[in-house]
Amino acid sequence: MASLMDAVTMLPSVGPKRESALRQLGIVTVGDLLFYFPFRYDDIRTRSWQELGDGEKVTLKGTVIAPLVLSRFGRNRNRLSLRLLVEDLPIVVTFFNQPWLKDKIEENSEVAVFGTWNAKRHSLAGQRLIAQADGGDAGMSPIYSVNKNIRQRTLVDLIHTAYEKYHGLLREVVPDSLRTHYRLEPTETVVHNMHFPKNGEEARLARRSAAFRELFLFECRMQSLRRDNNQVDAGLALDYDLTAMREFIKTLPFELTSAQKRVVNEICADMKRAHHMNRLLQGDVGSGKTIVAVLALFAAVTAGYQAALMVPTEILAEQHYTKIAKLLAPMHVTVGILTGSLNASDRAHALHDIETGRMNVIIGTHALIQDTVKFAKLGLAIIDEQHRFGVNQRRALRQKGINPDVLMMTATPIPRTLAITTYGEMDVSTIDELPAGRQPIATTWLKSNQTGRVLTQLKTQLATGAQAYVVTPLIAESEAVDLRNAEDLYERMQRALPEYHVALLHGQLKNQEKNAIMGAFSRNEVQVLVATTVVEVGMDVPNANMMIIFDADRFGLSQLHQLRGRVGRGNQQAFCYLIADPKNQVAIARMEAMVKTTDGFVLAEKDLQLRGPGDVFGDEQSGLPHFNVADPVGDSAMLEVAHDAAKEIFQDDPSLAAPDHTGIASYLAELKKRNQYFD
Ligand code: ADP
Ligand code: MG
Repeated sequence: MASLMDAVTMLPSVGPKRESALRQLGIVTVGDLLFYFPFRYDDIRTRSWQELGDGEKVTLKGTVIAPLVLSRFGRNRNRLSLRLLVEDLPIVVTFFNQPWLKDKIEENSEVAVFGTWNAKRHSLAGQRLIAQADGGDAGMSPIYSVNKNIRQRTLVDLIHTAYEKYHGLLREVVPDSLRTHYRLEPTETVVHNMHFPKNGEEARLARRSAAFRELFLFECRMQSLRRDNNQVDAGLALDYDLTAMREFIKTLPFELTSAQKRVVNEICADMKRAHHMNRLLQGDVGSGKTIVAVLALFAAVTAGYQAALMVPTEILAEQHYTKIAKLLAPMHVTVGILTGSLNASDRAHALHDIETGRMNVIIGTHALIQDTVKFAKLGLAIIDEQHRFGVNQRRALRQKGINPDVLMMTATPIPRTLAITTYGEMDVSTIDELPAGRQPIATTWLKSNQTGRVLTQLKTQLATGAQAYVVTPLIAESEAVDLRNAEDLYERMQRALPEYHVALLHGQLKNQEKNAIMGAFSRNEVQVLVATTVVEVGMDVPNANMMIIFDADRFGLSQLHQLRGRVGRGNQQAFCYLIADPKNQVAIARMEAMVKTTDGFVLAEKDLQLRGPGDVFGDEQSGLPHFNVADPVGDSAMLEVAHDAAKEIFQDDPSLAAPDHTGIASYLAELKKRNQYFD
């Protein structure tokens, strides 16, 4: 019996050679072939040369009025020229490197050629010969991505054959209710019109349905992975003490925002469940993720477990440690720190306290994941600025415990659409609100010859008792030169501000020196901190209300946003000055975006538009899936719908037993059988 799982070799004219060419395109079964969609269409309708503009792509029909000339030049290069009488205009048509066409075109015969029209010369740069079977006057010719071993023409013929024989077997996978609601076409129509559309509108509608189908199936795969994960490793049920939590919240110096309360509830409910928590907490800079983390750490401790917080830098570990120890002291929780710069005896003590369970909350850098570190009973691992850690480091921390619950935090807001695709198998909690009383940071972009204005403003601010960051990027080829830039700036600042303490923080300082400088800055013993980008992550000195960034065009949008997020943490108006003479449009657009908005999510969307998803994420976590028809950025609204729909289906009907869900079930079963489930 025929099936879409039939190998392509079941089609006439597919032998071993074509089979392997198709396999290189990822086409193994007839089903693969039918869903191998064109990436664009040429409008090959025949038109009159008189209505054409220069450079238009078009099909012209005419009579060959002179012998064909094939000339060879260079190595393996050749040109075929012919004269064609189109209506009453003789034109020249040239084909490059398609010598075989010489035998296909006869003098005095009528031919149709698709190519690019040159209106001045009355010539056509021919791309291909249009045959009657191409639908000629109907118009839309699909263009597939192919390789050296198979031609467009062959692929089109194969798809024709496959469609004729198999189209009756195409089934729906998207549930009827969704298809009706979003006016999606039946699969058979989609497949037909993707390959053989009558016009642009038909192709557009088919693409819409095809893209939705692809996104929906992707989301279903993610949801089924999540479902299976939850079943396989049971994970811990952290039975935290709600009364103690309430008491702790009362001791906090501020009221939690409603977004903070919501995410704390989400996290706690998740920890309490006997499955393995795998959750991402995202929130804009300054939205108050730290306190949420502290509440989660405390909850784990009240459940009788240890909890760890891993951060990317020692400065950050120190800062968090100081803060968190102070917050948790009234609750009689023992907080400790473990970093690479502890001396031998402190380190031995810490290791001992971690191993015996005397230390409840442990804050550290990647020193936490070394083999020598043994936890007595680790129940929760939180990873701050998770993108700074590699996949393996994150996994290593997880393996430290009895399969602890994991919470990742990120201050790099990602558009929801990307969160869905990149973190599809995770649950996501979002803090979408800043603490009350925050005023948007007033951001100004100035050219480097206007630096004087900034200095005036800086003096005004310092006079009110505020502090400031002055940042200069690493731009030189050599560290030595960079350092000199930073040192120059530092000296200039010292000279300009003799009545204040100015300090220089850069990457080549020893950790102890860095910590000392940061400490002095947070105690307001230093008023102006000149720094390379080391202040980028996590620093929290609420009295600092001015950020000056030199050569701002050298930074990416998310980095600029991070830097700016270092100020505006208190209740005074904060200022950010971007000093830049950008040379290109993209850099100009970045500066303008920064001036226009302080919303990290909006900036992330903008960044995505300006750079594309590949560049927004580093290699490490680029894990963006490849889609054939859909574009996760352009089709983001659709992606959200597909995500929510798939999630709901798996929540209501995890075994996919409902009649409307059998299509999904058999799709997933097929993937499993083909071993593509975990791709
Ligand atoms: P981020 O999300 O960037 O890590 P932090 O956790 O460092 O932000 O918080 C930024 C600042 O806001 C800190 O000074 C913190 O004490 C303060 N903060 C956090 N939550 C609140 C709140 N609900 N009300 C007032 N201030 C808050
Ligand atoms: Mg933070």
